[in-house]
Amino acid sequence: MSENQYGFDTLAIHAGTAPDPATGARQVPIYQTTAYVFRDAEHAAKLFNLEEVGYIYSRLTNPTVAALANRVAALEGAAGGIACSSGHAAQIMALFPLMQPGCNIVASSRLYGGTITQFSQTIKRFGWSAKFVDTEDLAAVEAAIDENTRAVFCETIANPGGYISDLDALAKIADAAGVPLIVDNTTATPYLCRPIEHGATLVVHSATKYLTGNGTVTGGIVVDSGKFDWSASDKFPSLSQPEPAYHGLTFHAALGAMAFTFHSIAVGLRDLGMTMNPQGAHYTLMGIETLALRMERHVANAKAVAEWLEKDPRIEGVTYAGLESSPWNERAGRIVPKGAGALFTVAVKGGYDACVKLVDNLKLFSHVANLGDARSLIIHPASTTHRQLEPEQQVKAGAAPNVVRVSIGIEDVKDIIADLDQALAKATA
Ligand SMILES: *Cc1c(COP(=O)(O)O)cnc(C)c1O
Repeated sequence: MSENQYGFDTLAIHAGTAPDPATGARQVPIYQTTAYVFRDAEHAAKLFNLEEVGYIYSRLTNPTVAALANRVAALEGAAGGIACSSGHAAQIMALFPLMQPGCNIVASSRLYGGTITQFSQTIKRFGWSAKFVDTEDLAAVEAAIDENTRAVFCETIANPGGYISDLDALAKIADAAGVPLIVDNTTATPYLCRPIEHGATLVVHSATKYLTGNGTVTGGIVVDSGKFDWSASDKFPSLSQPEPAYHGLTFHAALGAMAFTFHSIAVGLRDLGMTMNPQGAHYTLMGIETLALRMERHVANAKAVAEWLEKDPRIEGVTYAGLESSPWNERAGRIVPKGAGALFTVAVKGGYDACVKLVDNLKLFSHVANLGDARSLIIHPASTTHRQLEPEQQVKAGAAPNVVRVSIGIEDVKDIIADLDQALAKATA
């Protein structure tokens, strides 16, 4: 049976790896090396010319890091992938082959807060820009795309409110405009959603979250469907025309479906240096082995906790898309049929003060700026991550003063609920 016929759970353990050819080691060794000995001068020249695939220097490629990139590519149904130093690095790496100074992306207004800052402020230094639109308004997405647009960007399950993007509809619009749809699939993971099956070209991950799954690694991944025709227009000269940064190689003509992946390694990682380290890749590979089991439990716990909270008189509302009361419940059935993730917000009666007391009185939950950990996590955005925003902006971002965000872990669900119960009693007394 070939690898591409295996099911998801099998691929999560086996894809991208084989017993180590030198030692027979069954687990993926941590290749803690910077460089690799060339067989001879001719071998070295072939590697540098991309005529032969192999290892040169670990800023570009490393066997442990490659195993991780290839495993996530297999899980996402992609042609190839690149592992990088963080989720934010992955976003820059995804845009880098597509963009030139003066180009823009059309991005969903419902994104991770750090991504909104990266796109609205930092990428301007490269001469790039982002136009934020409410992706519920498909006509507005279409209208925002202009001749300088190079991608449409959204999240599968958007942080913090659990909003579900209509990937099929956005892919259709991007496709008609001749630009790729890039999906941040961090909060869903390929277990809950494979965006390429909904028409996405590129998928990015913060491996920091569920892929590793225990808050030990900062990492990121980009995978490419291999299906986008970069040569259909003159919009993507780095891929469709001779690349001056790589002795004039025309990546799409030379490498076909692997053009984006090879450009990202040979030019992106080489010159931007946003490389993942082999130790981090090892931890994330270990995490992915149990991804399916963990996500199943994350989703079951999140649903039980959301249902319990929704009925509690101390609560004003719960945004979990897995609840029948959610406006995104029907769409969740199509985009994330196995469950709507484990991240949502809760509006607490008693406003700002009650939220602060809730956070301070929880014992099992950790008060941290992270998500996708085996542990249950909580944060009060209005007093932390969204503190700088005006009250009106806080409400718009789903981070009103009366709202806490929870990332439900894989502990015993009765213990998670008991902890919330005792802390809510103190918070709303
Ligand atoms: C955390 C996160 C990021 C950024 O990832 P880092 O690994 O922290 O750089 C991007 N998108 C989403 C949805 C995230 O949750």
